[in-house]
Order: sequence, then C-alpha cells, then structure tokens
Amino acid sequence: MELLTEIRVMQQVAHEPRAAGRTIALVPTMGFFHEGHLSLMRLGRARGDLLVVSLFVNPTQFGPGEDFKEYPRDLDRDLRLAAEVGVDLIFEPSVEAMYPPGFQTFVTVEEVTRGLCGAARPGHFRGVATVVAKLFHIVKPHVAIFGEKDYQQLVTIRRMVRDLNLDIEVVGHPIVREPDGLALSSRNLYLSPAERVSARSLSQALERAKALYRAGERQAAVLAAEARGVIEAQPHTRVDYVAVCDRETLEPLDEVKEGAVVALAVFVGRARLIDNCLLP
Ligand code: AMP
Repeated sequence: MELLTEIRVMQQVAHEPRAAGRTIALVPTMGFFHEGHLSLMRLGRARGDLLVVSLFVNPTQFGPGEDFKEYPRDLDRDLRLAAEVGVDLIFEPSVEAMYPPGFQTFVTVEEVTRGLCGAARPGHFRGVATVVAKLFHIVKPHVAIFGEKDYQQLVTIRRMVRDLNLDIEVVGHPIVREPDGLALSSRNLYLSPAERVSARSLSQALERAKALYRAGERQAAVLAAEARGVIEAQPHTRVDYVAVCDRETLEPLDEVKEGAVVALAVFVGRARLIDNCLLP
C-alpha cells in the first residue's frame, strides 16, 4: 500500500490507470477507521481495480466550537487497517495543501442541505461538498463510496454529481452497527460508559418508528414524537432533531405515503451522534 500526501503526485498517479482503462474507486474518510469505514473499503475493493482511500479531517466542514481539534486521529493504526483490507493507496493531504492562502471557491448544494444537520451546522455541507469535489478532481475516481449513515451527506453528494455532470458513480453502503444497534462512528469514542448505554436509544428510536409504521401509522408527527420519546427517556441525551423526510428532497413530510427517511441527531454527553432509517 502506498501513502501519498502531495496533490500533484496523486493526480499524476491517477492518470495512468484511467488511461489504461482500469477503474479507480475512492472511499473518502476523515480517518480513525472502524468497521464502518472498513466495510466501505471492502466494497471499494470489489468495485475498483485501484482502491484509493482519502484521509483528511476537513476543517471547512467543522463549525466554530465543534470538534475539529479533538477529532480522533491515528495514522499508524489507520494505515495498518487499510492495508489489511487491501487498499492500494492512501491519500492524506495536509490542510495547507488543500486550503492554501487565498482559497475562496466553494461548492454549495442548496435545498437538500437546508434542513436536518444543515440547519444545525451552518456551512457544514458547503465544506463537505467542496472537499469532495476537490477529492474527485485529485483522485479522479470512476466510483466513489459513501456510507448511508451520513444520509444527508450522501444525498448532497448525489445531487452535486448530477448537477455538475461529474462522471462518477456514487455508491451508498448500508449503516454498519454494533451488536446492540449503535451505528459505528469515530465520535462514539467520546462516550463515557453511562453515555454509551444511553446511546443505544438512537437505534431503538428508529426501531420504534419502524414498528409503528409497520403497524399502520403514517403521520410523520406521531412517528417522530414516539421516536423522540425513546431517546428522551434516557439520561445524558439531548435531541437536536428527529425528522421524517422525503428520501430524495429531504423535505419534511406530514404523512408517509411512498416511503421516507427517519433521520435524527442527538447529543449524548458531548458527542453529537446521527442515525437514520428508511421506511418502509
Ligand atoms: P467519516 O470518516 O466519519 O467522515 O466517514 C467516512 C465515510 O464512512 C462516510 O461516507 C461515512 O458515511 C461512512 N461511515 C461512517 N460510519 C459508518 C457506519 N457506521 N456505517 C456505514 N458507513 C459509515
């Protein structure tokens, strides 16, 4: 496995397989790998002749007072884990190289980033879309793989790719969970043992919404309120939002007619955790 940090070198390295008709798969990450990341990499391994994983804690997607500085980092461990799943190349650029002095061009995906995490974290998806657009031009992948755990991010990237006619296939990967249902996240590291117990309520809340839906409930307000109740019954939790939205536009729904996404964000202690599920 190769480790590249220079943008120019990465662009040159990507040129050769493309010219030879080989497929490049990219898995963008912020590192501190867990089984969720590794599952995306295995899918990337199956989809690409050359599998590139980018590792970049992107400052432009963190707001003031958010955890950019404390975000967990462990390059040596990440390199070992990536090598084990058969990654060909890790691209790990510096912040200075990605955002040199004078940088002022951003990608804004408008409507789908307005609600949910976009409302709670102004500028977050502008940072995400911008860095992903840059990575697409640096790594030049044919296929890019994103987790459904960050559902709004996936919708945003799909929208950007369509709107800007980027010649890249965006592939979503299902959410990878702990045995008790908690979605894997680098931020789970922030949880104390007691908070870790409370964090189970996120996936339990989604299960509650699914069960109600299966039982015939179609009112979004009822589904959301019941899910919220499951979380609020646990200590250490503070709900940011629980929303029932259209799967593609992410517009809030009154009634679930042809399916929906139930998305939630919750502070458990200081960790802001997100999760979602599709209905039906
Ligand atoms: P991150 O390093 O947190 O930015 O995540 C990198 C990629 O891994 C994103 O596409 C995430 O959606 C995806 N990802 C993170 N956690 C999970 C998970 N538990 N299941 C599936 N994908 C995940």
